[in-house]
Amino acid sequence: MQEFKTGYKIALVDGGQAEILRKIGGGGQGIVYEVIMEQKRYALKWYTCKLKNQEAFRENLQSNIEMGAPDDKFLWPLFLTLEEEGSFGYIMDLRPPEFSDFSDILNNKVKFSSTEMVIQSALNIVNGFRALHRKGRSYQDLNDGNFFINAATGDVLICDNDNVTPGDQKNSGDVGGKPGYMAPEVFRGDSHPNSLTDFHSLAVILFKLFLRHDPLWGADHERAPCITEEREMELYGTHPVFIFDPNDLSNRPVNGVHPNPIKLWPRYPQFFQDAFIQSFVKGMQDPNARLHDNEWQKILVRLRDEAISCPLCKRDWPINKLGQKGPINCVCGRAYSAPLRLQVGKYSVPLFPGKKLYGCHTIDGSDDYNTVTGEVIMNKNNPGLWGIKNLSLDRWEMITPGGERKTIDPGSVAPIGRGVSVTFKELTGKITQADET
Ligand SMILES: [Zn+2]
Repeated sequence: MQEFKTGYKIALVDGGQAEILRKIGGGGQGIVYEVIMEQKRYALKWYTCKLKNQEAFRENLQSNIEMGAPDDKFLWPLFLTLEEEGSFGYIMDLRPPEFSDFSDILNNKVKFSSTEMVIQSALNIVNGFRALHRKGRSYQDLNDGNFFINAATGDVLICDNDNVTPGDQKNSGDVGGKPGYMAPEVFRGDSHPNSLTDFHSLAVILFKLFLRHDPLWGADHERAPCITEEREMELYGTHPVFIFDPNDLSNRPVNGVHPNPIKLWPRYPQFFQDAFIQSFVKGMQDPNARLHDNEWQKILVRLRDEAISCPLCKRDWPINKLGQKGPINCVCGRAYSAPLRLQVGKYSVPLFPGKKLYGCHTIDGSDDYNTVTGEVIMNKNNPGLWGIKNLSLDRWEMITPGGERKTIDPGSVAPIGRGVSVTFKELTGKITQADET
């Protein structure tokens, strides 16, 4: 079918009209236009290819529209159009200009402002999928085309929600996913996508975000660089081998050919490497062994805790820097002794200037990974004096090692010292040396 011209009006199911302003994108499945409705601009995705089970696909979209977005990270379908020449589309919010394509981040066209923002965006991706799964839906077609990221803030928007399906039902579009992101059992045709295959695709997305490489693309791939369908089935379906499988070294990344994973993998702490090993070794054979989104949340919060930059020159340090023995030497020449840590709940947060505490650290049982409740600050007049500033609305109480009690009102600062304990609302944290238990 022909593309719509500027000014053309499309009728919506519930009576309104959307006027075409311009084409803003297109892919295999359809064309995306900018449209205007009642003085507000939106995006219209119009399907140009023949959809399998078109009626069921439409009904599923309508049901997702009625359910509403799982949270504000989704560019969710808002209105369905009437059919024209046997095809149709749906309206969603426009992507704000500060959000970049995930693929532009992966190929380094767009760079994050800091390591913390890479982790923040990963956490936002995981939080989005957690919200979706909690609504009883599975995404089913997770790949690098589904995200927009604000590299300055780590904010994420999840788009292309048209295959989102209730529970683990087969999606009516009969979409299996994108090669490289599909779970092996989907690739082999043994299963249709479901929430467990979403967890495989999510691990691939995270691996690509942090390692800038395909988790299965190593020496095996190079042995036959001309990929036939049969070879692809072996690499992604019948014999997938993680490039960092600790027991099977056959598919390691190749020097000079795969520089990113070789350079980046050693920069991450063991617990983070283990998360990928679990997902891509055990989880490759057993879908139930894959890390769920709530497990990724905890791992990414821990990784964000460990991401630190020099308070003097602001350079980011490699994330595993804190795991090393002895003082930390920054390239600017300044040396720091290993910071004290706040042991609170399941977290151990290094107390270093700039480090933030979130709801998940200071509120009992909270999975709020985004609301900042405290920040480690440095005294302007005496850079050797550090404290935790109370950025929450709650009154904290600290107890010094000598037993003295002090109230830390919102906006006030609790001085950091070994043996100090701080009670945030109900939860109490203790400040210790890194190697103390
Ligand atoms: Zn420095």
